[in-house]
Order: sequence, then structure tokens, then C-alpha cells
Amino acid sequence: MTEIKLYNSKTRKKEVFEPIIPDRVSIYVCGPTVYDRAHLGNARPVVVFDILNRLMSHVYGAENVTYVRNFTDVDDKINATALSRKEAGAEGTLEELIAERTEETIGWYLGDMAALGALEPDHMPRATQYIAQMIEMIEKLIADGYAYAKDSHALFRVREFENYGKLSGRSVDDMIAGARVEVAPYKEDPMDFVLWKPSSDDLPGWDSPWGRGRPGWHIECSAMSYEILGDSFDIHGGGNDLQFPHHENEVAQSCCAHPEGEFARVWMHNEMLQVEGKKMSKSLGNFFTVRDLLEQGVPGEVIRFVFLSTHYRKPMDWTAKKAEEAANTLRKWRGLTAGIEPAASPSPAVLAAVADDLNTAGALAEMHKLASAGDAAGLLASGLLLGLLGDDLGDWAQGPDVDLSAFETQLFEARTAAMESKDFSEVDRLKSAFMEAGLEVRMSKTGVKLVPGPNFDASKLEAL
Ligand SMILES: [Zn+2]
Repeated sequence: MTEIKLYNSKTRKKEVFEPIIPDRVSIYVCGPTVYDRAHLGNARPVVVFDILNRLMSHVYGAENVTYVRNFTDVDDKINATALSRKEAGAEGTLEELIAERTEETIGWYLGDMAALGALEPDHMPRATQYIAQMIEMIEKLIADGYAYAKDSHALFRVREFENYGKLSGRSVDDMIAGARVEVAPYKEDPMDFVLWKPSSDDLPGWDSPWGRGRPGWHIECSAMSYEILGDSFDIHGGGNDLQFPHHENEVAQSCCAHPEGEFARVWMHNEMLQVEGKKMSKSLGNFFTVRDLLEQGVPGEVIRFVFLSTHYRKPMDWTAKKAEEAANTLRKWRGLTAGIEPAASPSPAVLAAVADDLNTAGALAEMHKLASAGDAAGLLASGLLLGLLGDDLGDWAQGPDVDLSAFETQLFEARTAAMESKDFSEVDRLKSAFMEAGLEVRMSKTGVKLVPGPNFDASKLEAL
């Protein structure tokens, strides 16, 4: 069997992966809070853990892998979005507007992630479907002294869990010094975090032993992973922005409520995404959603390829140049593999790279070698392991088969004539029409080369 090595955030080491139950793999990944379109950064963990799921399915058999990713559908941001819609005159109760918004957002999310070639997890639990299990878990934590109720809240007593901070490598006192903790009259200690909080009448709420209210964010992942995967499972994933406090709090809740289990054996965290070297933010004007990119004509497969070109534990820099290079490579590879049957298995070098802590950049480098060697069947089988080159994502590269050489000649001749006449208007007209069609125009003394970019639209050439 292929040896898989994964970097475990908990031990800060790359380790040989061994499932808790031999030949079965269980994975839990923190999913989105569903109140708006997924931005490009939200898509990175989806692609990273899709690769993990595909690798595990390849090695252990898809039927032996259980992959869970939740939807957080109870959250203050969702409430705020619904509230502002109601204030803007939208019809329906707040609860109906919330349900409408979460339903719509989940649909968008699944559509956008499918466009990136991400397979759907086996389970996609929603927080609101697990309120009873969350209440039960909180009651157990209170009964065992790890939590307490005060002023309609339930809180976790952080200092009762001696391993608190171990995952993210912080001491409780450092965390207090970092002082992002909120002091509140209902807290015994500022570090304690909310398990349950009261809801006013105009907010969604459920009856509980502590009054009508709603869960804090962290408890849902503990309750859902326990219900679906049990008290011990193999891999827990998420972005490294979730490591503290979210994952730290998940560990505390789960290990105290179910001390017989070990909760997650391996923790995997992906690094964040930047755009053209800068943090993506609305104020910098470089904020965009997955849907924005798709609508601009950047194919989902190109986005996926760009993501895979950087190792998941390194910051990923999204650039237009990378997207263009990815499109060119994929066009070439799709040309090579068109009409070919994939080899029975991916190339050993590609598989070994992916199995080495998801070294997707290394896997792509190996695929370039296969392409150079003309091993189309091996290239295709390897691509499929990475969710590339499959029929599901393929339409964009097919397009009408356009021979660009006539256009290249046309521009070259126009330029030769212009050198004589000193009238460059025809050259300029052709150049801007080619660029408008998504072609990169490369001119040299000896000729013209037109290179299709990711937004190439052959129909725009028809008028020329
Ligand atoms: Zn979570």
C-alpha cells in the first residue's frame, strides 16, 4: 500500500499516516458559514481537502473513506444579513429570510465548488440539525464540571482543561496577554468561551435548559463530528486561521465531553491566500468571489490548477499571470490526452508526491515530465488523481478548433505594409481585436505569435 505522510499540526511533525480503524479513513473539515458567496480564499481549503479525499479514496477505496464537511447555518452574520434584508422591505419573517438566505448560499457554494472540481463530501451536516446533540454535550460538560451556566449563557471553563493551547502552541496566559478575549459579567474567567447564548425574541433561538437561545460557534463541530464519526477520528482539517480559537475550543469541548476518545488524531491546516502579493480585502479593492472569476471566464479547472501549484502549507499568491500559464498548460495537456484512455493507475512519481503531505506542486512538476515524454495515458490518469483533465471540467478547453495561423499572417502582413506606409491604424485595429478576444499578441521581427489566454473567446474572431 502507498505510504502516506501528513504534517500533523498537533505534533508539528510530518508523520506516516495510520488510520485508527485499519483500512478506514475518517475526515472532518470545518465548512463555511453560509451568508454570502465564497471568496477565492474560502475555496482554498476546499481544494486542499478535496485532494486529501481523492488521495485517501485512491489508496483505501472510496467506500472506506468518510469525509464530513459542515455548514454553519446559525451565526450572527447570517442574522445580520437577514435583518438588513428585512429592513430593506423583504417579505417574510426573519426566520424565513434566514432560511432563504442559507438555502440560497448553500446552493451557490456547492455550485461554485463543483466548478472547481471538488467532489461533495459524504456528509454535509448543518448546525441547525444538531441543536439537540449540542445541548446534550453542553449538559454533560456542565455535569462534569468543565462548563457552567450563568445569566442564560453556558460557558466552557478553559482552565479546567490542562491541554488548552497545546494545538496552537500557546499558553493560556499568553492568550490573555494577546487580549482578544472578551471580559463579560457572566464569565468566571475572561478566557472562558461561550457554548450557548441567549437569543432575543427577534433572533432565531431554541429552547434549552438555560433558556431560549442559540449555540456558540465552536460547539457545533464537536457535536457533529461526534455524531457522525465518533469520539476518535483520523484527520481534522481547516484553514490555519481557525487553529485558534476555533480548533483549540473544539479540542477542549470534545476531549472533556468524551475523555475515552482522542478526538482528532491528525490536524491539518492550510495557509491563507493572497492576491497579487497582497492580502485580499475589500478595502484594497482586490476582493473577489469564486463566482466573479468564473464569470470573467476563468475556468474552474484553471483556478484549481493555480491552487495546486503551491503547497497547502505555504501562502498561496493568486496572480493573473499564473492563471494564464495554467490555462496554457491545461490546453496543452488536454490536447495531448484528447480521446485517450487513461492508464490503469497514476504515475508512481505523481502518486508519491501527493502522498508526501499533499505535495501537489511536485505532482504537477512530474506531470510536466510525463507530457514532455509523450506519456498521454499516464498524464491523464495522474491528472484524474488531482481532479484535473476530467470530462467534468473539460468544456472550456474544447471550444471551436481555431487555427490562429491565418490571423498571425494577417497581422504580420499588416505590419509589413505599415512599415512602408507609416500608417499603423490597421495594425492597431487587429491588435486590439485579438486582445479583446483574449489572445496575447507577441510580435517580433520575424513573425507574430497569438497565444490564447484563460479568457480566449474564438467567436470574437469571426468578424475579422
Ligand atoms: Zn469547526
